[in-house]
Amino acid sequence: MEKPAFLDRDRPDVPGLVVPGGVTPFYLAGRPVRGRLIRTGILADAMLTRHDNPAQVTALAGKALALVAALASALKFQGSFSLQIKGDGPVSMLVADCTHDGALRFYARKDDAALDSLLASNPAPTDRELLGNGYLALTVDQGADMERHQGIVEIAGDDLSAMATHYFATSEQHACWIMLACTLTDAGWRSGALVLERIAGAGGLADTELSTPDGAAHDDSTWETATILATTLTVAELLDDNLPAPQLLHRLFHEEDLHVSQSRALAFGCRCSRARLVDVLQRFPEDDLDHMCVNNDTIVMTCEFCNKDFHFPRKDIASAMG
Ligand SMILES: [Zn+2]
Repeated sequence: MEKPAFLDRDRPDVPGLVVPGGVTPFYLAGRPVRGRLIRTGILADAMLTRHDNPAQVTALAGKALALVAALASALKFQGSFSLQIKGDGPVSMLVADCTHDGALRFYARKDDAALDSLLASNPAPTDRELLGNGYLALTVDQGADMERHQGIVEIAGDDLSAMATHYFATSEQHACWIMLACTLTDAGWRSGALVLERIAGAGGLADTELSTPDGAAHDDSTWETATILATTLTVAELLDDNLPAPQLLHRLFHEEDLHVSQSRALAFGCRCSRARLVDVLQRFPEDDLDHMCVNNDTIVMTCEFCNKDFHFPRKDIASAMG
C-alpha cells in the first residue's frame, strides 16, 4: 500500500552537501578578541543558484549566509540564529538562518519590476539600495526551554557588514568587526566572512569556552590592532578555495598569539518536510484546498527556502477546519 502523504517525512531531493571546514573559530591569546572565519565553499553556489535572482541579489544573499553562519557558530546551546531584513527597497525581505550545527538556508523576496528599474539605472547597487529603509532583526532561538532573544534595529550603512556591525553596537552594545563577501568566481559562487568579537563585557551571545585566561588585557589597543590587521584581508583571499583557513588566519594574526580551534561543518539545511507542509495545508478549509488544486487533483507547494516543489494529491489532504 502506498504511504499516505501525511506520513511521508522524507526530505525532498535537495543537495546533501556538507562543507567540512566551513567554520574556523579562533582567538588571540591574552587579548579580548575571538573570531570566526567562514567559507561556504561549494555550498554557496548550490544554494544560491537554486533561486532565480539577479547577480546583485545573489551576492547579497550569499553575504547573509556567511553572516548567519558566523553568528550561529557562537551559539552555546542547540538552536538557530536568524537574520531577517524588511525594507522598502526592491528586495523587500531577506531571511537567512543557520543552526548551531551549521545547517544553512535563506530566501529573498523581491519586487521584479522595482528591481529591473533599479538595475537599469544602477547596475551595481549597494546592499542598502537593494534593501531600502527598514529594519534588521537578529533572533536567537535556543529551543522551547530557552528564552527567544530578538533584537531589532533600523537598517543603517551601505552594506550588510555595516548593517550588522551597527546592530551589535546599538542593540547588543557588543563591539564586532565584520567583513562579508560573495562573488561569482571561476569555480562558481563563493561567500565568506571574517568576524571579530571583542569579548570583554560581551553580551548574551558570548561563549566563554573560547575566552582568554583571567587577567587578560582588556585594553582598546589590542582590539584595535586586531581590527587593523583584519582590514588587510582581501576579498580574493577570503574566497580563495586553495588558501586553507589556518594559513589565511596565520597571515593576518601571526604576531598576535593566534590560536586556531577545531573547524566545523556547514551544510545545506532546509528544514521543510512533507509532514510540515501537510500540517500547514490542513489549516485551510476544504473550499480553499479545492481552489489550490492544479489539474483538479494536485496541490503544489514550493518551499521558499530551498525552492523545492512538493506535490500533494488533493484526496490525501483533509482539512482540519471541518
Ligand atoms: Zn525547503
